[in-house]
Amino acid sequence: MNFSAFGFGPSIMEGIEAIGYEIATPVQESAIPVILEGRDLIASAQTGTGKTAAFLLPVIEKLMAMPHDNQVKAMVIVPTRELALQIDQQMEGFSYYTHVSSIAIYGGTDGTVFSREKQALTEGADLIVCTPGRLMAHINMGYIKFPELKFLILDEADRMLDMGFHEDILKIISHLPKQRQNLMFSATMPSKIRHLAKQILHNPFEINIAMSKPAEKIVQKAFVVYDAQKIPLIKMLLKETEMKRVLVFCSTKEKTRQVYQELKRAGIKAEEIHSTLEQTTRETVIIRFKSGDIPVLVATDIVSRGIDIEDIDMVINYDVPHDGEDYIHRIGRTARASAEGTAVTFINERDQQRFGGIETLLEREIEKSPVPEQYGETPLYNPTIRRKSEKRGFAGKRKGGKKPGNSPRKPK
Ligand code: AMP
Repeated sequence: MNFSAFGFGPSIMEGIEAIGYEIATPVQESAIPVILEGRDLIASAQTGTGKTAAFLLPVIEKLMAMPHDNQVKAMVIVPTRELALQIDQQMEGFSYYTHVSSIAIYGGTDGTVFSREKQALTEGADLIVCTPGRLMAHINMGYIKFPELKFLILDEADRMLDMGFHEDILKIISHLPKQRQNLMFSATMPSKIRHLAKQILHNPFEINIAMSKPAEKIVQKAFVVYDAQKIPLIKMLLKETEMKRVLVFCSTKEKTRQVYQELKRAGIKAEEIHSTLEQTTRETVIIRFKSGDIPVLVATDIVSRGIDIEDIDMVINYDVPHDGEDYIHRIGRTARASAEGTAVTFINERDQQRFGGIETLLEREIEKSPVPEQYGETPLYNPTIRRKSEKRGFAGKRKGGKKPGNSPRKPK
């Protein structure tokens, strides 16, 4: 479906053309007409499906028909600062040829940022993109009201609940007019999301974009390893092929730092990103990574959701992600739009069962690549065994370079 079929005004169409979209993605095709019609919406669509444009474009179209009167009319609530910034950037692109204004309210430690946000909130940008905690801080100061708010959008709702923002979200909503259009996007639909949807949405239209879709173009591989083999293996992977952009995900900040330092020591141009870094440093790192200045970025899950970085050649899960959703989010950083990409996961003994669970969720076994012989013996892959200890050889060993350990796994 071409964008001209939605009936957007010429100034939005100019923005869409300038950005280079031609054909609507499935979530855009389903969501845009529903939003234009004025209905509440609940959509299960993960990052990479084009969900941002699916809600921004129709909301901009509607905002254009409203008076430009210094009142906030649309609010997008998101879990992280990075996502807020990224949505705000897309907003700028789409609304470039319109009079619709927007601002991201996501904080930072600097007092001038707070006063700039305060000014934008009191003078009324048409659309704000905010993180819950920061918006609550402004609301608590008592100078913002939202008497004209017409659209509430919750993006990555499951992630926000995981991060403990449930109360903040409800508090924010208690400050909004009851008559409004509500749109909720979530990668997954667990019962707590259904419950939140019941509290917020009125007779919503429901869209489900199949979870496995965006991952289809991604070549997925795994290495079954001992912890000590991870560093040599990652160095090998990064050195063996020339790659423009590689994202490495680790489970903790400490691990992120350690891997980053090891890579630097090995002469690989890398940077780290996690929540202990200052916001400005995080932003600079992302800009440098986006621009191609840094080819390897070692990250915690902070950047796994929602962050729109084009042309990532490879995602390496240095540790197995917490669950299937996180896995899909992490590997969804590669193979965006039409590009292809590779996702590699290192599975140590402790993580085998978890990875087995991810394979079950994906309804497929991920290819286990052989570890080159020079790195020594590797564990046998048997995710059905619960490993209480990290003892080497608990589930048996196999020689590096032999047949990958797919076979012992029985489907659960
Ligand atoms: P999102 O799921 O909103 O994070 O979008 C994922 C990526 O797809 C972003 O890089 C978008 O710019 C891009 N994108 C979204 N919609 C389209 C479209 N209709 N045509 C081409 N690229 C798109």
